[in-house]
Amino acid sequence: MARLDGVCEEISRLFRDRGDSEYGGEAVTQRQHALQTADRAERDGADVPLITAALLHDIGHLLHDLPDDAPAADIDDRHERLAARWLADRFGPEVVEPVRLHVAAKRYLCTVEPGYHDLLSEPSRTSLALQGGPMTADEVRDFEASPHWRDAVRLRRWDDAAKAPGLPTPDVAHFLRRLRDATPGADP
Ligand code: FE
Repeated sequence: MARLDGVCEEISRLFRDRGDSEYGGEAVTQRQHALQTADRAERDGADVPLITAALLHDIGHLLHDLPDDAPAADIDDRHERLAARWLADRFGPEVVEPVRLHVAAKRYLCTVEPGYHDLLSEPSRTSLALQGGPMTADEVRDFEASPHWRDAVRLRRWDDAAKAPGLPTPDVAHFLRRLRDATPGADP
């Protein structure tokens, strides 16, 4: 399937050209963070669409030209919306929606899970304030109305844990291979 080949090429190129940029004030690069998130998803038994969402959840950071430390400068880069728009042209809702909701999932967990906020890294807490802080009760209800909210919460937990400097993971090609293998009609 030529189209999937083209999408995989775009993804490889983005990680190759921009993946070495800093991951928002953490001690890992964008590429390392994406790979660690996808690796955790795979180890946790997620299906291929959700592993793909994990790999691409921060692709929005590779699509804009704001500085890597935008939140520290009080800028919400709205990377989840940028990512969701980009992904919606290329994938179905099972990939797009967990990505679109992964920032909302942080706000959600801050409200419903005692102690979650204290586990967040400093940069993650800084961006939380810019992203609207913990959810209100109404927002919690709306969030749980999405058919994809549980996947978004799973993705969020892998995301939060994927900041370990130097942790070995499979490479981008590994996850793109899994995507091709799972897509009917794709060339092997
Ligand atoms: Fe992330």
